[in-house]
Amino acid sequence: MNDMEDKVEKLVIIGSGPAGLTAAIYGCRADLDPLVLMGTKYGGQLMLTSEVENFPGFPDPVLGPDLIARMKSQAERLGARLLQEDVVKVNFRTYPFEVRTDSGAYKALSVIVATGANPRRLNLQSEMKLMGKGVSNCAVCDAFFFRGKKVAVVGGGDTAMEEATFLSKFATSVQVIHRRNELRASAALQKEAFANPKISFIWDSAVVDVLGEGKVQGVRLKNLKTGSESELQVDGLFVAIGYDPSTEILRGQLELDAKGYVAIRNGTESSVPGVFVAGDVHDFRYRQAITAAADGCKALLDAEKFVKTKQELKVAN
Ligand code: NAP
Repeated sequence: MNDMEDKVEKLVIIGSGPAGLTAAIYGCRADLDPLVLMGTKYGGQLMLTSEVENFPGFPDPVLGPDLIARMKSQAERLGARLLQEDVVKVNFRTYPFEVRTDSGAYKALSVIVATGANPRRLNLQSEMKLMGKGVSNCAVCDAFFFRGKKVAVVGGGDTAMEEATFLSKFATSVQVIHRRNELRASAALQKEAFANPKISFIWDSAVVDVLGEGKVQGVRLKNLKTGSESELQVDGLFVAIGYDPSTEILRGQLELDAKGYVAIRNGTESSVPGVFVAGDVHDFRYRQAITAAADGCKALLDAEKFVKTKQELKVAN
């Protein structure tokens, strides 16, 4: 990297969901003058969420993109530098660390990785068109809107069972659509779902289309054994077929766990001292805006301590 800026940043934050932006807000107040590489499609999963009703401090529902816009302007007001650039390469084997984007290259004393995760999609045009209009990836966020309605969940893993069980508290019926005739979910979660009178299962089936104009009115199903197609009337479709953490740029640089998420230890530390981790890129369990935000705060407090120690060492030498 020979076009690297000479300036060494105290802190570079990669990612601009609640984790990255909270780290930026705290980073300004800790005098770390954070540089946030937000990505060209900034904001993360909240940008695909409609009404958020469970973020503390918002008694009225707030739209996901509005919540991100507020976090962004809070970070900007405090002095964070937010660049809408995609990180294409990192080098954590050298120090200061090097972070390269599609239009610049930066050196940093510390880095917070908050690149998030993407829910897997069915890859249907109708799914994307009705996202936030009855199609969702998050029961905890959206179940409330389906009180007294019929919903379907796609998937046979732990997430699908958790989503189905959670949705059953609100919906009149929950139909789990799975492509095979046995679940992948843990025994305990399966048992809980099978025992729930509101949850039923449609086996060996795939959703081939989401029906409805402006809101979900049903799904078209294909039986994968017989090839026959049918329609199911539902008001909501929860796609729970797994997540892919955004770790492409981190491969070979940070230790990942068996599921492909960034491995953390001792709070928010990664396998490289000085590189900290926040939000869904390590957390497949909680995946909430508020837990990601809390993680961003924790990562910043850890980064602050790290940078201070480095600066003290430099003064002492
Ligand atoms: P997962 O275990 O990968 O399961 C994904 C499910 O979706 C599988 O049943 C899979 O079917 C199905 N699927 C995948 N692609 C599909 C497609 N294109 N169309 C239709 N169905 C598709 O994902 P997850 O449930 O999100 O769990 C991810 C990890 O987090 C797992 O290790 C899980 O144990 C963990 N987790 C743990 C908890 C907990 O401990 N409480 C909660 C949530 C998640 P097949 O079965 O046919 O492959």
